[in-house]
Amino acid sequence: MANILAYAEARAGELRKTAFEAVTAARQLADASGGGEVHAIVFGPAGVAAKAAQLGKFGADVVIAVEHERYANNDPESMSATIAERAKSGGHRYVVGVASQTGRDIAPRVAAKLGAAFASDVIDAKVNGDALTVRHPGYWGKVIMTLEVTGSPTVLTYRPGAVTASENAKEARAESMAPAADPSASRVVVKETTQGAKGRPDLAEAPIIISGGRGLKEAANFKLVEDLADAFGNAAVGATRAVTDEGWRPHSDQIGQTGRTVSPQLYVAVGISGAIQHIAGMRTSKAIVAINKDKEAPIFKIADYGIVGDVFEVVPALTAAVKAAKNS
Ligand SMILES: Cc1cc2nc3c(=O)[nH]c(=O)nc-3n(C[C@H](O)[C@H](O)[C@H](O)COP(=O)(O)OP(=O)(O)OC[C@H]3O[C@@H](n4cnc5c(N)ncnc54)[C@H](O)[C@@H]3O)c2cc1C
Repeated sequence: MANILAYAEARAGELRKTAFEAVTAARQLADASGGGEVHAIVFGPAGVAAKAAQLGKFGADVVIAVEHERYANNDPESMSATIAERAKSGGHRYVVGVASQTGRDIAPRVAAKLGAAFASDVIDAKVNGDALTVRHPGYWGKVIMTLEVTGSPTVLTYRPGAVTASENAKEARAESMAPAADPSASRVVVKETTQGAKGRPDLAEAPIIISGGRGLKEAANFKLVEDLADAFGNAAVGATRAVTDEGWRPHSDQIGQTGRTVSPQLYVAVGISGAIQHIAGMRTSKAIVAINKDKEAPIFKIADYGIVGDVFEVVPALTAAVKAAKNS
């Protein structure tokens, strides 16, 4: 039986989708290890405790709110010190988070402070006696590696989208905790956050991603990708590095080894060759559809559905079909 500390991410006082994924993953691990408790820790400005209470629905037995005005933004120094302190005092067997941008910043710091084993970007985990067996993509997504992790505590981050948040209601007890390190003394302070395209879900949270590559020929043709995303309604738009380097899309849209890592339910690759550096960021998507006029393009090796054709013909037809399906 293992008690687990889940880092539930919030931004500007609002819980992120990854918060529910982290708590769901922690619940699954706790149940698999004989039914320990899940303690979810949440950081935010005053008022985050009230929002955090909903984590009980996803399997948290205890919800710990750490409130401070500085936590309206990410504050990795103070947050990681606080998580490590709580893991120590609570004797938690595992500390679980999601390998989002913020999770990647915080989790290795927690592991270092605890002197703990650390497995990152995990796509699944199985309790194996005292050890934990996890799988995660290696060599930029070219292989899936199986690792055995021993030692207590162990820090894990799951790939965003690898776990589907699911309800498993508990009578969550609410607790509050003071920061273990004063956020006002942090040496790195977020001064400004500039938001990307409004009105679309974040790449890490979107169930559907329509991603465009150099096959679109020029920036204006991304309208095809936008239109398909609009037809789905809940889709984000991504891009390859070739595209972001050209300045057709912002760098925040880049998916891959040096960009974002995503695992949506559906990933549509439009005019993308499938270079290993791109695949590294999207290989674990649940269903991959590739549209490319070159039937030998490497993207087809990992695609579940491949359409050999011209994006300028196929994508408008697909958009019309999605709209028709939604209206029927
Ligand atoms: C250190 C390093 C890190 C990198 N990190 C990343 C990263 O994070 N993310 C990333 O994406 N890349 C990354 N790259 C770049 C990567 O190697 C590729 O160059 C890039 O992914 C290619 O992008 P692309 O598929 O858009 O372009 P291309 O490789 O040029 O492919 C375009 C595709 O479009 C098809 N096409 C052309 N016209 C049409 C049409 N009309 N209809 C249908 N299909 C058409 C072509 O057949 C081709 O397959 C990195 C490279 C390095 C060296």
